[in-house]
Amino acid sequence: MNVTVNQVRCEQNALCVSIAPTVFELSPDDHLTVLDDNPDDDLAPDIRAAAAACPRQAILLTGA
Ligand code: SF4
Repeated sequence: MNVTVNQVRCEQNALCVSIAPTVFELSPDDHLTVLDDNPDDDLAPDIRAAAAACPRQAILLTGA
């Protein structure tokens, strides 16, 4: 699975960070960062949950 975030759509509310903190991080300047864009399969449920919870549909998962 590859994880990318559409920075134009993202509203930096950190919902994804709370669900999958090893994959998503909000920097001090409010920039959403993907820490691991090719995470282990065992993180897939949390990442899918984060993508589903994103109110802006900003998280794109490919190869899932
Ligand atoms: S949940 Fe979506 S809108 Fe919120 S910080 Fe994550 S990517 Fe951005």
